[in-house]
Amino acid sequence: MTLSAYDLTGRTAFVTGAASGIGRATAALLAVAGATVHCADLDERGLKETAALIARDGGTAHTHALDVTDRAALAAAVRSAGPLHVMAAIAGIMHTSPVLETLDEDLDRVLAVNFKGVLYACQEAARSMIASGTRGSIVTMASGAMDTASPGLLCYSVAKAAVVQLTKTLATETGPHGIRVNAVAPGWIRTPMTDRHEPAAQEQAEAAMVRHSPLGRVGEAEDIAHAVLHLASDASSFTTGQILRPNGGVAMPW
Ligand code: NAP
Repeated sequence: MTLSAYDLTGRTAFVTGAASGIGRATAALLAVAGATVHCADLDERGLKETAALIARDGGTAHTHALDVTDRAALAAAVRSAGPLHVMAAIAGIMHTSPVLETLDEDLDRVLAVNFKGVLYACQEAARSMIASGTRGSIVTMASGAMDTASPGLLCYSVAKAAVVQLTKTLATETGPHGIRVNAVAPGWIRTPMTDRHEPAAQEQAEAAMVRHSPLGRVGEAEDIAHAVLHLASDASSFTTGQILRPNGGVAMPW
């Protein structure tokens, strides 16, 4: 036995949301595993920082400043990457509003980024893999919110539940091509998305998570990157249509 199943040398990966948090950590880890990584995000400056991080560690990165809700831009970027082996569709936004105050535009934007953006990435990746005959791996980013209810999280939860359905459905359709599709559903992870911008509020939010975690800590972006690497690599070659939950053993504590 060797650990070569985790080796991505010679493979091409495309990561959305790569300018920050979980996407950045994932892009960096996939590069360490040997992949050439195409990093896509809205945030051009953050993308440059991610690419520099990857180059510093001896990896190869290309950047694509784009909005994942722009299907044509995403398709062009994926095509420019050449035959794809891995897609990690990670870009997402947080939105909170009580159900009774939720506006059409709130729902439309969250579904556009968190669901349609993932759908477009999956479609483009699957097309690339089928066209090149690559037995690739697609990893989507769900959330513990996909099957729990929390005040204010309707739009976000609905979008993440939709990502799960997309993941499972696509896995049934691409399986015959040897293409695997799985989701990662993290618990609370310390990233800019969960930054409360105020130390006392941050401490309170994290303490609530820690109290409910058998492991007694919140997650870091690298914890999720390792879950993505597992699903992206041949180490999970018999796994498809599954949801991996790196959450410290805790469901949402309400
Ligand atoms: P993050 O640090 O805010 O990173 C998200 C990245 O996605 C940002 O660089 C953001 O750019 C980019 N992005 C947003 N909208 C985009 C769009 N339309 N097109 C292209 N890029 C876009 O958040 P994170 O915590 O790493 O979250 C990454 C994923 O994990 C998300 O799907 C999130 O829902 C999921 N997740 C996070 C947690 C957690 O606790 N952190 C838990 C469960 C699931 P801007 O900064 O310019 O908006």
